Amino acid sequence: MVDIHTHTHHSTDSRMAMDKAAETILEKKISGICFTDHYDFDAPHDANLFTFDIEAQQKEIDALQKNYPSLLVLKGVEIGIQPISLDNIRELMSKHSFDLVIASMHFVRGTDPYHGNFYGPYNYKEAYSIYLEEILYCIERFRDYDILGHFDYIARYAPYPVQEISMKTFGDILEPILQLLAEDGKTLEINTKTYQQQKHGIPVLDLNVLRRFRELGGEAVALGSDAHKPERLGEQFGYYTQVLKDCGFRYGIFYKERKPQFFKL
Ligand SMILES: [Zn+2]
Ligand SMILES: [Zn+2]
Repeated sequence: MVDIHTHTHHSTDSRMAMDKAAETILEKKISGICFTDHYDFDAPHDANLFTFDIEAQQKEIDALQKNYPSLLVLKGVEIGIQPISLDNIRELMSKHSFDLVIASMHFVRGTDPYHGNFYGPYNYKEAYSIYLEEILYCIERFRDYDILGHFDYIARYAPYPVQEISMKTFGDILEPILQLLAEDGKTLEINTKTYQQQKHGIPVLDLNVLRRFRELGGEAVALGSDAHKPERLGEQFGYYTQVLKDCGFRYGIFYKERKPQFFKL
């Protein structure tokens, strides 16, 4: 088991020290960790707020790996996809090597949903549909990633009573996303940070999304805690491993040098 999605002090919104993360992961009997700090171009209000010094982060990871030889420590990035950022992302990707790349959407149409200032003009169907359509637009044009991060992020901070992105309601946009992921050999993420108490409620994961991904040929779903603090590392991994088995998946996944590594669930 590897926690493929974590943030350190290299991310603007985290102060986690790498050695503290490594010790916590070992205590929790998880065999590996991937540090995926935020790299978002074109953040609203402050375009460079969510970027970091990739070389410095990777140097620190190399040193950490030497200090913790029994732990698998991976070099990752959570790249922020937006239609306007794709050229910059391609250029960045051509300059750096990673073990694992998560593509995630954090900003929509120039707004930051985390601060709630996206949802105003829309009902839940419109808001979630816009988010999914923008993801589809990006992954049709940018393929140099391994894992699609938190496809349901937009429900995490949503002010609506409905906080589920279900196949039933959003199948028309989820279907082509899942199909493209499966065809391209990409991985879907269960991001366990989403399914905890949020400001307006607890978002729900529709298991039909996982089942449909499996039916379409998706081989594995990755588990990521999206931890910004040590105590959240590996959160709910036992529960979601069982969920994945119940949905027909037999293998878990992480990536090393951008190559998929499967392990039995
Ligand atoms: Zn994210
Ligand atoms: Zn994250």
